[in-house]
Amino acid sequence: MSKAEKRRVVLKISGEGFCPAHERGISMDAMVRLAEQVVHSAKKGIQIAIIMGGGNILRGGQFKAANNAIQEATAHYMGMLATIINGLALQDAIENLGGDTRLMTALPVDTVAEQYIRRRAIRHLEKGRIILLAGGTGSPFVTTDTAAAQRALELQADVLLKATKVDGVYSDDPEKNPHAIFYNELTYDEVFRQNLRVMDQEAITKCKDHQMPIMVFNFRKEGNLERALYGEQVGTTIK
Ligand code: UDP
Repeated sequence: MSKAEKRRVVLKISGEGFCPAHERGISMDAMVRLAEQVVHSAKKGIQIAIIMGGGNILRGGQFKAANNAIQEATAHYMGMLATIINGLALQDAIENLGGDTRLMTALPVDTVAEQYIRRRAIRHLEKGRIILLAGGTGSPFVTTDTAAAQRALELQADVLLKATKVDGVYSDDPEKNPHAIFYNELTYDEVFRQNLRVMDQEAITKCKDHQMPIMVFNFRKEGNLERALYGEQVGTTIK
């Protein structure tokens, strides 16, 4: 296992990865399907850090219209807590399959997860543990995409993998426009120029500034996640 041994990836899984299509909440079946592929790849020597989204439970932005009963910042903290709930579920799913994990959070919740400390996270990865990074950045008004870019940089990942429900990046929403063009490869600037919906602008800017490649791929297609973890081209690469 020469080449795979040192490969390090940061994998962003949105909340939609943790429940069936068009549903909300947590589906342990969805968790187990993800866990199977992740555990298999980790056993082959890929170092994996997973950033969990929280949109299957709630997103801070969704409370904007709710007559200000909940302050926006409060809602964002609720969203960060949602990522910790997902992390706990994914942790058990992975460990049930024999994977070794550490749940780390940028938003301290001492009794359920260890605090995110960069050097400790790297040590876990070197020891073959799958690290689950919850709590986003720990600060409100951003999303877990930004956290994913941030962690990919500081953990010196080879690539930031963004798992989505579509095959990659298109010129338009392929679920609404059947003529949308699929891109195999894009530059960061093309993403900005064409205003393509890939990740938050802040996340892409961070990756662009530090030349962190992003691969966007469909995690629901059989085998895709594992292929992406191994470094195969399975969607759109932005570099
Ligand atoms: N969030 C936050 N700071 C962060 C990351 C997330 O405030 O660093 C909040 C934000 O409200 C966000 C929610 O947590 O909407 C859930 O994360 P996200 O929307 O990124 O989840 P996803 O869309 O990937 O499921």
